[in-house]
Amino acid sequence: MPVPPPAQPVFRFAPSPNGLLHLGHALSAIINHDMAGAMGGRFLLRIEDIDRTRCRPEFEAAIFEDLAWLGLIWEQPVRRQSDHLDLYAAALERLRTMGLVYPSVMTRGEIKTAVAAHEASGQAWPRDPDGTPLYPGRERELTASEQADLVAGGCPHAWRLDVAKAVGRLAEPLLWRETGAGPAGETGPIAADPRAWGDVVLSRSDAPSSYHLSVVVDDALQGITHVVRGRDLYHATSIHRLLQRLLDLPEPVYHHHRLILGPDGRKLSKSNGDTGIAAFRVAGRSPAELRAMIVEAA
Ligand code: GLU
Repeated sequence: MPVPPPAQPVFRFAPSPNGLLHLGHALSAIINHDMAGAMGGRFLLRIEDIDRTRCRPEFEAAIFEDLAWLGLIWEQPVRRQSDHLDLYAAALERLRTMGLVYPSVMTRGEIKTAVAAHEASGQAWPRDPDGTPLYPGRERELTASEQADLVAGGCPHAWRLDVAKAVGRLAEPLLWRETGAGPAGETGPIAADPRAWGDVVLSRSDAPSSYHLSVVVDDALQGITHVVRGRDLYHATSIHRLLQRLLDLPEPVYHHHRLILGPDGRKLSKSNGDTGIAAFRVAGRSPAELRAMIVEAA
């Protein structure tokens, strides 16, 4: 029987249009583009704009302009997450049907107060890998009908994944294949640790889907075989692998690359004007110069 040809690798660069791209984004886009080229693969661009309060059309236009200036070529049409909210809602509904999500009603302020009160007693409150306190609310312990009453009562709520319950449903260990390296150099098969994140938010009243939910839905729908992104998202992979397993989505290979740090040794942020790609362009530097500066040692 003829052996089917191996699937063509598919890479994506997935920025959020909530600011101007900086050198770290340029590095990520270039690595994706070059790996796709080297493997005879496809290179896609995805606009991750579900957070309508922070994303702006002018930043989206600047993404296209900056990437084109860098000499990158991506496939058309570009997928924009805000055009596909129904798909993320369907994924959330599936998890709801499985009894793995619950409505949480504590506001950010209430969470802060509860955690501060706990810590005032001298005991640390657990935090996720990004340093955010785990959700202190107990709505996960309500019965299904109590949860339904809470929602019917009209109180603004977010839907959270009951991570402990979800992990308890897994029949096999949850791993991912890392071809880059984590913060401590981790590579090869990595054991995912979704519990470290606590009950992550999957949708809020002001944002219909979360980054975690939409990224796994889109990576699967676009047939992404290689997720290549900065090391700041290394730990998030644990949640992505859990969602992929729960939703029966395929598992891509993950490659986390080094970050470009600012002069203060911290990760660059979109508000950091002097390290923006556009600032380099305006200063008359060439794309080749920028590439040489950031790609060495990537
Ligand atoms: N949209 C995310 C960001 O701009 C990246 C998502 C990903 O590569 O998984 O940080």
